[in-house]
Amino acid sequence: MQRKMRVKFWGVRGSLPCPGTDHAVYGGNTSCVEVQCGEQTIIFDAGSGLRPCGDLLAKSALKSANIFLSHYHHDHIMGFPFFKPAYNREVSLRVHGPKPQGMGSVNDALKSYLSDPFFPVGIDQVMPHVQFKTLDPSEITTIGDVAVSSISLNHPGGALGYRAQLGPLSVCYITDLEHSPGELNERLLSFIRGTDLLIYDSTYTDDEFPTYCGWGHSTWQEAVRLGNAGDVRHVAIFHHDPYHDDRFMDNVEKQAKALCSRCIVARDGMELTLPSM
Ligand SMILES: [Zn+2]
Ligand SMILES: [Zn+2]
Repeated sequence: MQRKMRVKFWGVRGSLPCPGTDHAVYGGNTSCVEVQCGEQTIIFDAGSGLRPCGDLLAKSALKSANIFLSHYHHDHIMGFPFFKPAYNREVSLRVHGPKPQGMGSVNDALKSYLSDPFFPVGIDQVMPHVQFKTLDPSEITTIGDVAVSSISLNHPGGALGYRAQLGPLSVCYITDLEHSPGELNERLLSFIRGTDLLIYDSTYTDDEFPTYCGWGHSTWQEAVRLGNAGDVRHVAIFHHDPYHDDRFMDNVEKQAKALCSRCIVARDGMELTLPSM
């Protein structure tokens, strides 16, 4: 039987959650993508979208899960203390992430977030059974028959991108990163080459990009260029700017599809199944 990957977007925004009627179509939660790889539950980032993701997983027969953090900016970790399975000692939960700047480990970064004056209870107090793994850039993590490889990204303080591979199927999760205009990143291109789904930081448009140089983000047009050059099957425009409301994103979708029919604009609750989409 051919194995499948099921991808669910629980949070597609960058920077800050933006609930409200102007963002009802594309959604307001920050970065969180769940990938069911055969038997394995893999979650990329712990933004505010992790809360509804965890609420649903808590109702399932979840035995284990692996969260891969791209980095520790608050839009990527704010959902972690609200992930219900982390409070269930029967669930084996491991959190992977890059070495935080100025700290020793993933555990150090999350401990400092779940402590005074930011949060009322500590990790050791409420989720002592959760395991943490600090990744080296380029490290490959094997979880059952899934291999998750990592790549360092150009972002203030550093970030890791990931590729989850299950047999011939793969998903690449690439956010947050700043590109160099006019030159495709060859190292990234070889990392994403041939993937079934590229999820890519599309915070800005090419027109907006010069204003935000140094903020560590990319554009939806760069997602299209990488997708075309990397022979990617589907490109998901992701990590939307909170100031880009539904009308703005409808326009992005129209323009992106005109350039590349393999493009989709990610929205909260969107689900894709590979390879049959
Ligand atoms: Zn971000
Ligand atoms: Zn960031």
